[in-house]
Amino acid sequence: MQPPKQYRAKLEDKQQLNERFMQYDFELVEPNELAFAAGQYVSIKVSDKGERRSYSICSSPAITHGFELLVDHQPAGIGCTYLESLAFGQEIELLAPLGIFTIVPDTDETSLALVATGSGIAPFRSMLFEHLQVRQDTRPITLYWGMRHANQLFWEDEFEELAESFPHFSFHPVISQPEQAWPLCRGRVTDCLTAHEQAASVGYYLCGNATMIGDVTQTVLAKGITEAHIHHEKFY
Ligand SMILES: Cc1cc2nc3c(=O)[nH]c(=O)nc-3n(C[C@H](O)[C@H](O)[C@H](O)COP(=O)(O)OP(=O)(O)OC[C@H]3O[C@@H](n4cnc5c(N)ncnc54)[C@H](O)[C@@H]3O)c2cc1C
Repeated sequence: MQPPKQYRAKLEDKQQLNERFMQYDFELVEPNELAFAAGQYVSIKVSDKGERRSYSICSSPAITHGFELLVDHQPAGIGCTYLESLAFGQEIELLAPLGIFTIVPDTDETSLALVATGSGIAPFRSMLFEHLQVRQDTRPITLYWGMRHANQLFWEDEFEELAESFPHFSFHPVISQPEQAWPLCRGRVTDCLTAHEQAASVGYYLCGNATMIGDVTQTVLAKGITEAHIHHEKFY
C-alpha cells in the first residue's frame, strides 16, 4: 500500500442523494494523482484549529485523479458542516490514503459477505468496483446494507446493475423500520445474515456503527467463523 501523503483537492461536484446523505466529488490539485486500495479513507482538515474527520473513499481505485465521498449529515458536527459549506472549486487539505480495511486477496476466503449500515456502504461501493470490474474476482460476493427506512437508500440502481452483470454478486437491502409492505429483508442486518451460507470459508467485512459490528461479530463467531475471517471498519 502507498504511504499517506498531504493532498489538496477541490470540490468538483456534490449531489444530494436524499435528505440525509450527500455525495461529494473531489478533483486532486497537488499532488494530482492518488493511488489507493478500495476500502481506504481520507482524513480531511475540517477547521482552522486543525481538527480532522475521516471519510472512506467510495469511488473506484481505477480513478486516480480524484475521489468521491459519501457523507451522512445526521451527526451535524464540524465534519458534516464543513463539507456542506464548501463552494464548487473550493480547496480542502487531506491526508491519504489511510487504513487497512481492504478485501484480502488470494486467501482461503472463498466467498465474501459485505455488511454495512448507513454510510458504512461507502468503502463497499469502491470494493465492488475494484473486485468485480477491475480484478474480475469470481468469488461469490453478497452485500447486506442496513438502513432504517427504504426511502433512505440510494445507489440501488448501481448495485442492481452490478448484480445483473456479475451473477456471483447479490445485493440485499435490509430495512429496520419499513413504512409499507417491504418485500425484502426487514429488521437488523444481523437477522438477515442467516440467509447467507455460514461456511467457515466466508470472509466477513463489516462497516458502520459499533453496535452492528459487535452484533454481527458475535453472531458469526457463534456460527464457527474464525476471527481471522472477520474484518471491520468502525465509523462511530
Ligand atoms: C475510518 C473512518 C471512516 C469513516 N468514513 C465515513 C464515511 O465514509 N462517511 C461518513 O458519513 N462518515 C464516515 N466516518 C465518520 C466521520 O469521520 C465523522 O465521525 C462523521 O462525519 C461525524 O463527524 P461530525 O464532525 O459531523 O460530527 P461529530 O461532532 O464528530 O459527531 C457527533 C456525534 O455523532 C456520532 N456519529 C458519527 N457518525 C455518525 C453517523 N453516521 N450516524 C450517527 N451518529 C454518528 C459521533 O460518534 C458523535 O457522537 C468515518 C469514520 C472513520 C473512523
